[in-house]
Amino acid sequence: MRVEYDYDTCIGMFQCVAEWDAFERDEDAGKAVLADSEEQEEDVFVREVPDDAELDAKFAARSCPVDAITLYDDDGEQLIP
Ligand code: SF4
Repeated sequence: MRVEYDYDTCIGMFQCVAEWDAFERDEDAGKAVLADSEEQEEDVFVREVPDDAELDAKFAARSCPVDAITLYDDDGEQLIP
């Protein structure tokens, strides 16, 4: 599973931070930060989701009120949202 995080869309409500510890708070920026990610294009960050974190990642993606977090399966199919 792969996660894609749209930094520009994030409005800093931090629900995701409570669901998956890969998301960290940047209080100064009012944005979440996705740890260990690469910037795929401007303000879009991606990383693999470890098998044991898939449930947490799903909760994080579902919790985001602005759909800034997108999950894809290993075939590239979009899972959430
Ligand atoms: S839940 Fe969405 S809007 Fe809130 S901090 Fe996380 S990514 Fe940003």
